[in-house]
Amino acid sequence: MSPARIVVVGTGYVGLTTGACLASIGHQVTCVDVDAAKVARLAAGRVDILEPGLAELVGRGLTSGRLSFVVGARTAAAGADGVFLCVPTPMGAGGAADLRAVEAVTAEIGDVIPPGCALITKSTVPVGTSRRIRELLGRSDVPVVSNPEFLREGTAVADFLHPDRIVVGSDDLAAAHWVAGLYDELAAPSVVTDAASAELVKYAANCFLATKLSYVNAIAELCERLGADIEAVTEGMGHDRRIGRSFLKPGPGWGGSCLPKDTHALTRIAEAAGFEFGLLRAAIDENVAQRDRIIAKIAGAVGGSLAGARIGLLGLAFKAGTNDLRDSPALAVASVLAAHGAELTAYDPAVGGELPGMVVVDDPYQVAKGADAVVVLTEWDEFRRLDWVYLAELMDGDAVVDTRNLLEPRRVLDAGLSWQGIGRAREA
Ligand code: NAD
Repeated sequence: MSPARIVVVGTGYVGLTTGACLASIGHQVTCVDVDAAKVARLAAGRVDILEPGLAELVGRGLTSGRLSFVVGARTAAAGADGVFLCVPTPMGAGGAADLRAVEAVTAEIGDVIPPGCALITKSTVPVGTSRRIRELLGRSDVPVVSNPEFLREGTAVADFLHPDRIVVGSDDLAAAHWVAGLYDELAAPSVVTDAASAELVKYAANCFLATKLSYVNAIAELCERLGADIEAVTEGMGHDRRIGRSFLKPGPGWGGSCLPKDTHALTRIAEAAGFEFGLLRAAIDENVAQRDRIIAKIAGAVGGSLAGARIGLLGLAFKAGTNDLRDSPALAVASVLAAHGAELTAYDPAVGGELPGMVVVDDPYQVAKGADAVVVLTEWDEFRRLDWVYLAELMDGDAVVDTRNLLEPRRVLDAGLSWQGIGRAREA
């Protein structure tokens, strides 16, 4: 396909990656945001989010002239072949997706989009949103297309440029094929379908992953009760190609900016369609139960009572490789610990500044000073390489709770500490 004039609205994880990557494969891209300060930083090549390769791609796009940043979508949209909506769709009242940003942008640009220009939702939106946007637009000459995004934070650029698949759906199939063609350079398989199916793919995929994680967390709990080892169990499961190895790692519960809101949204979508999605509700409940079990494990490690316990936290981001704290399970655990009176010191290689209920430090060893327990909450590789002998010297107590099964227990034990993982025997 020849280069297209693309507008990307929203310059967060999804929008900035989309804009920079589409520019890198030859399209002429204008990125738009409401945050004027952010736009100014991006126009100067400064990228706030931690995503490998993204700042370089933005720099190259700016230098080539194929990428630019502006405030306000109207002028840009007036000269576009396609407009991508990459704005937030957070959890709204009662768990449903809040579509106000999607609707606001539609209203902002609805009368200036040229005839034939595709309006494309990359934001995760409930089934029926394409129809809703068409109604809001009140125009039959602007095709509305769903093109959900599957990138993962921490590997956003690589995921965008080497996707497992591209999903595009519209009730205007020619427009859907045109949008799929924007990715021709990527040589990825594409699924071109109707709007409702494309919208549902994203929720179906994310909720499947959340359910898989809840399942493995429940199996880890069974391992502890039955004297089995989750590492051996998941290895045995993962060799089965019908199951696969990914998303088989137990942890402190799933979180991040997508899985919690998308699982709640799909239960609401199902409810509105008259279907009680009990399986998905159970996965959500299991996630809360997992966090409660982690809290109980930490309380047990400090002698039963969290009040006044000094606890060092390693990791705050919702997963390694990102500085995103949105719906981080580490923060969820920390807030319950703090509510029970624990004194928290925390370190994360990608997170600084002030956070409620804890002191954030910039050295992992500082969390151990005077601590009764050290708890690993995010699977940063650098925690594996810590000097546990030195940590043990700094600590008051001897408990290490490893909610990611990240550490080599032997190294922790050899330092004179105890180690507890998830779904594994406690070692002291
Ligand atoms: P984000 O919060 O990182 O970024 C959203 C951006 O949109 C912000 O810069 C904000 O200022 C801007 N914005 C808000 N309202 C706007 C408006 N009216 N006009 C212009 N800009 C506006 O969000 P994100 O993580 O990139 O997620 C965006 C969408 O993509 C969501 O629907 C999310 O569910 C979906 N998604 C996210 C991921 C992910 O890993 N983060 C992956 C796949 C899909």
